[in-house]
Amino acid sequence: MATKILTEHINVPGIETFDVYRKQGGYTAVEKALKTMTPEAIVEEVKKAGVRGRGGAGFPMGMKWSFLAKPEGVPRYLVCNADESEPGTFKDHYLMKNIPHLLIEGMIISSFALGANKSFIYVRGELMYVIHILEKAIAEATAKGFLGKNILGSGYDLELVVQPGGGAYICGEETALLESLEGKRGNPRNKPPFPAVKGLYQCPTVVNNVESIATTAWIVNNGGDAYAAIGIGRSTGTKLISASGHINKPGVYEIELGVPVEDFIYADEWCGGIRPGHKFKALVAGGSSVPILPANLALTLANGEKRLMSYESLSEGGFQTGTMLGSGGFIVFDETSCIVRNTWNFSRFYHHESCGQCSPCREGTGWMEKVLHRIEYGHGHRHDIDLLVDVARKIEGNTICPLGDAAAWPVASAIRHFRDEFEWHITNPQEATQPGAVYRGE
Ligand code: NAD
Ligand code: SF4
Repeated sequence: MATKILTEHINVPGIETFDVYRKQGGYTAVEKALKTMTPEAIVEEVKKAGVRGRGGAGFPMGMKWSFLAKPEGVPRYLVCNADESEPGTFKDHYLMKNIPHLLIEGMIISSFALGANKSFIYVRGELMYVIHILEKAIAEATAKGFLGKNILGSGYDLELVVQPGGGAYICGEETALLESLEGKRGNPRNKPPFPAVKGLYQCPTVVNNVESIATTAWIVNNGGDAYAAIGIGRSTGTKLISASGHINKPGVYEIELGVPVEDFIYADEWCGGIRPGHKFKALVAGGSSVPILPANLALTLANGEKRLMSYESLSEGGFQTGTMLGSGGFIVFDETSCIVRNTWNFSRFYHHESCGQCSPCREGTGWMEKVLHRIEYGHGHRHDIDLLVDVARKIEGNTICPLGDAAAWPVASAIRHFRDEFEWHITNPQEATQPGAVYRGE
């Protein structure tokens, strides 16, 4: 039976309430942390666990915590990034609406470990009902003495604030989020300095994803070594995967890292296979910001071994034949999907969401959208394919924040793996623009 670190109790009726959560063993990790552990000991357990940032970047959480500057007399902050907006990603939403106390318990432990007395949960603004769920849970936890002044008589104080997000994808980028939290327009800042040195109100700040913070209760209860024993290699622990697209069982699944991609797609326990009568065509494993892979490369590595659901295995082959685990937004396409249309659709999204601060992203995303539009609608030129590759290359690595790369990679990888589809659109415009027309390799 696979270990469930985050979702073991998620289907227990009433688990969103303090009393039911507590009956299932909730808040014992807060008691253990505040009564028996030092902040340094908690940081050490998180480091040992090897848990990597679950928002998408996969940066080691314990290392990020240890980078937090601690100047005398300056407040430190913990900010939970709950602005989940990556296309195909809906796992933080699932966690917060179903088991809000798990996040709150994690926020208390993490804030204590970092020495923060005021912490924030910045929630995607469209999820107003989730904001209400969290606020209710915070009120319950406060009434029971787990938040506020002198928590459980430990002398530790914590105020937890839920902030509705600004309603833009870019507000999920950590420095744009901090700007937005300060009441400004959500424009990303140049890094360095990283938030760990100059974050919210120019004070040292840790920004962690919902899923990352939620793991800390289990780590405190069971130890970092026990967490690191789950998973594979440097991909320790479990990961929530938001599975969508042409599969039989879309949903959120908690997997132990290291499961073969093939098993994840075809086993009844998870996606349950491709919808009846259809064939697996392509995969985006980590939200729309990562390279797209054709089915054969998604399932198998160059050496013939099975590709696994892990940070290393998914990116094996680099950008030539690999993708990324990212946020775990796992989108499966069958043979009815037009890659050109899909790429244009992603491009439209990034162009719309670009904050416009840097020219390669502001202009480049617009160019890519326009060129893809004309290919999709039968007005493409032969040189357009190379033009797209050139624009993508000029964006990549030349922008303030990762949105530029996120816009470039899907385009570059779609052309790398599905160039014949782009060519077919250009050479067969009449056929390609028929409703529902898809290139089938003939
Ligand atoms: P990043 O690699 O720049 O940084 C990762 C984290 O490590 C950040 O918190 C950063 O501050 C910290 N860090 C890195 N080097 C540091 C140093 N030397 N000192 C102190 N701290 C350091 O990536 P990012 O910009 O945080 O995130 C990009 C990822 O976000 C993408 O890969 C994408 O998958 C993901 N994403 C997720 C969503 C979502 O809805 N979940 C949306 C958009 C993008
Ligand atoms: Fe804004 Fe795009 Fe530059 Fe990011 S890369 S700062 S979204 S213009």
